[in-house]
Parts: sequence; C-alpha cells; structure tokens
Amino acid sequence: MLPDATTLRLEACAVDDTTAQIILRVRSTQTSAPCPLCATPARRIHSDYGRTLADLPWAQYRVHLQLRVRKWFCGNRRCRRRIFTERLPTIAAPWARRTLRLAQRLTALGRALGGNAGVQLGHAWDVVMSRNTLLRLLRRQPAPLFPTPRVLGVDDFALRKRHTYGTVLIDLERHQPVALLPDREGDTFAQWLQAHPGVEVITRDRAKAYADGARHGAPQAIQVADRFHLLQNVAEALTQLFNRHSDAFQVVNEAISRTPHLRPDGTGVVPVPPSAPPRHAQVQAAHSRSRRLARHEQIWALRRQGWTGQAIARQLRIGKTTVFRYLRSPTFAERTSKRRGHSMLNP
Ligand SMILES: [Zn+2]
Repeated sequence: MLPDATTLRLEACAVDDTTAQIILRVRSTQTSAPCPLCATPARRIHSDYGRTLADLPWAQYRVHLQLRVRKWFCGNRRCRRRIFTERLPTIAAPWARRTLRLAQRLTALGRALGGNAGVQLGHAWDVVMSRNTLLRLLRRQPAPLFPTPRVLGVDDFALRKRHTYGTVLIDLERHQPVALLPDREGDTFAQWLQAHPGVEVITRDRAKAYADGARHGAPQAIQVADRFHLLQNVAEALTQLFNRHSDAFQVVNEAISRTPHLRPDGTGVVPVPPSAPPRHAQVQAAHSRSRRLARHEQIWALRRQGWTGQAIARQLRIGKTTVFRYLRSPTFAERTSKRRGHSMLNP
C-alpha cells in the first residue's frame, strides 16, 4: 500500500482515532542516489532529515508519511554540487507536501470539477485542501500537446460581452479547441499561425481582422467563409427584408387563407401542415404585438381628427413620449430584434 514499496520501508505505524489520522514512518532504502547535476551515483551519506507527505486516505483516516530523506555527497570531484538531497521520483516531487499519487488524484478532481466543487467533493473524501491548492495543482499541469490542425476554425468569443473578446481556435477535423488567444486582433492570430506552420484551410467569419491575420500568418492556406456565419448573415438579411415587406406578406397571407388548399382532383396548393403550438414566449410576444398595434391605430385615429400629441396622451392616459414615438411613423413598426445588452441592472 506504500507509494513505492521498492524504495520505501515501513518502520512504524500509528493510528490516532481522535484526529482520524494514520502516521506511517517510512525510510528510503536506496543504497545510492544519482547526483541531480552530474548523474554520478553517490554512495556516501551526509545526513538525513524528516519530510511529511500527505498520502491517499484509508477509509475515513487521513494518511501522512513521515519520510526520512537523506543527503548525499557527490562522488564526482569535478562536479560543482557537493551535497544533494536524494530524489524520489516515484513518490513525490522534490518540494511537494503530498505524494505523487495523491496529487494526481486531486488534479483529476480539479480538472473534472474546478476549484470550489472539487474542494467540496475532496472534503467528502476526507482530503482537506483549499481551492487555491487545487487550482495551483491544475495550473502546474503542462498544457496538452496537439498536432497542428490541417483545417482550422477561428472565431471570437466574449470574456465579457461588448467589452472584452478573445479568439478561439478549433481543430475542425478533431473537433477540439486548440488555443485561446487573448484578443481578436489580426496580428495575434498571424503570430499563432507563424508559430504553428502547416494549416491548410482556415474557416472564419468575414471580419477583416482574421482575414488579415490568416493572409500574413499562413499565406498558403485557403480561406473559407464558414457555414455558421453565412447562415447567420442570410438569416439577418431575410429578417430585415421580411419586416420591410410585412404589409405585402400580410396581404398574401390573407389571400392564401381564403383559398381552398386542395382541389377535389388533388392538384393545386399543397396544404400547410398544422404548426406546432406556439411557445409561451411567442404567445407573449404576439399579445404584446397586438396591444402595440391597437395603440398605434388609436393614436393615429385621433391624430387624423386633429388631436394634438398632448391631448392624445391625456385622453388615452399614456405617456407623451410614447405618443410621440408612435406619431413618428404612420405605418406600424414591427420590432426587428430585442434591444441587446439592455437590462434592468444597467442603472
Ligand atoms: Zn555531481
């Protein structure tokens, strides 16, 4: 049950039930140790000292190793290092306060759950640590290696919407993010491409920054407008178009609803399938639209009879600004989209 039974020998074991702890006194059994500088095996011991390492818990008991570690004289006369502490690479990192296997377990916990949730589950497993300890262990992990993508997707993402944006790079063949860049500047993207040669296809939105970055960083790569942004652009364009011609659509719609959909002989217009029941939000939106439409008609009816804006507001018991907003346009204005970024929290 020791981390490495070939280099450690158990000398004593003490169980403390009041603190739910097990203390294991262990000693390194290495008969020589390689110098960390010149790798010459040393055979003369200088001294030893105690080191305490937290290890994996046993049932509800926390386990600590009290480890005697030795210092050795380097036997190589030309080596600059005279005395060194033996390394125990299978047990713990040189300055660590926990064993390698405990650190690995905690790292896996932190990777899956992050700081706070990881600490909570750790406590349930009798592994006591702070959130910062867990995050420090995670940050010490080397970034995973990845091959340079052949087909690279680039897009921006918001760290804080409308304020700070970064760039995410995705390997589109492996479907994995490969890098996050701190901004969405063309130069930053170009530098990344220069440091990772071999990208053959770059799919991007049609903003200038990424086009420039791709041209400078990977001039041989083919640039492709990605499907997501093309669909998004076409959807926006069509929404604007349909809104602008909403009157015409209304007329067409009414004409269709008066037309029998299917003639007895089976030719003619294919019947429209019954639409799915509208969602709550859509019902709400439809209600508020009909309210606004009714108000628009009321206001303009009075206007055509010569009422002033002030008088209309008093008569209908609504705000003057609302009345004047409606009076700006004799045709009812559809809402094109939500007001973005507006929140009751802004004030
Ligand atoms: Zn040496």
